[in-house]
Amino acid sequence: MIAEQIAASRCPRCDMLVAPPSTYCPHHPVLMQPVTLPGVGEVVSFTTLHTPPQGFRSPLHLALVELDGGARFVCHGADVRGLRIGAAVAIEAIDDIYYFSHLGAMERARLFWRRTGRAGDRVNAIARSLAKRVWKGRDRAAS
Ligand SMILES: [Zn+2]
Repeated sequence: MIAEQIAASRCPRCDMLVAPPSTYCPHHPVLMQPVTLPGVGEVVSFTTLHTPPQGFRSPLHLALVELDGGARFVCHGADVRGLRIGAAVAIEAIDDIYYFSHLGAMERARLFWRRTGRAGDRVNAIARSLAKRVWKGRDRAAS
């Protein structure tokens, strides 16, 4: 199957990968270089929110996914059933929002997504702050 390409950026000094692309490395005042990564990642954690913020359909399925190279980001999905930590998932980026789907079943989670006219980056920012809260403890335990 053909994987989507995910836009990311790499720090020339420390090789850190960031997605979505960032102008500067989070660790250095260094300009990052744009790269594209295959849209296949590994599930680090996932959760379902039954009382998501306004503008999100309930239940809201989120997965924290790590790409080859270490870039991690929050993806939305149609369902987390059958998902497990370490599973490979396909990732699609649509309007700066990431969606995961089980490999081989690239149905777009977008169909289940209720857009409310917000800019994609704003929605993604909310998802990120949510994920920070949800995964705060778990990430610490894992590292
Ligand atoms: Zn760096």
